[in-house]
Amino acid sequence: MSVRIGVLALQGDFAEHGAMLGRLGAETVEVRQPSDIDGLEGLIIPGGESTTIGKLMMRYNLREPIRDLAAAGTPIWGTCAGLILLARNVGRNQPLLNLLDITVERNAFGRQTDSFETDLEIDGISGGPFPAVFIRAPVVREVGPGVQVLSRLDDGTIVAVRHGRLFGTSFHPELTGDTRLHAGFVEMARHA
Ligand code: GLN
Repeated sequence: MSVRIGVLALQGDFAEHGAMLGRLGAETVEVRQPSDIDGLEGLIIPGGESTTIGKLMMRYNLREPIRDLAAAGTPIWGTCAGLILLARNVGRNQPLLNLLDITVERNAFGRQTDSFETDLEIDGISGGPFPAVFIRAPVVREVGPGVQVLSRLDDGTIVAVRHGRLFGTSFHPELTGDTRLHAGFVEMARHA
């Protein structure tokens, strides 16, 4: 039986996540309305523009169904803007899911290093460093109790976190050919 993974498809690079999931043999559902959430075994919130995604999430009444999914123990993974949306606090007023007890700083790398690529060690991912693409990326400045740090940049900046079955990454794993993170998420969804 193939596993059914939703990708929030309001704005941003949801298609790239879908392509990754397709390569792994998962069934992908583009989530645009509450009924799309029924029967999902996992959900990915993509990168894009978190303010826009958040506003559309409110307009289409998706916030509560996504929070219910998390409460039911369904794995959820936010990348880049998706990490921002999962957070409790981003230091400004915008619609958030408030699911991960983290404080996030948006666009944390400033203009000079708007975008960059680096290799990361990520807890739980074997087989060598992971190629990570950062695009106007957020970082995690504080983590609450129970939130596990999975990866840091060389200077200590937190760029991947986990709390139970909730995951957040600052970077874009859907933009490289490396399927290890998606494969790990699909496996977790299959067994959750
Ligand atoms: N800068 C975007 C934001 O703050 C996130 C960028 C991304 O998802 N690549 O919402």
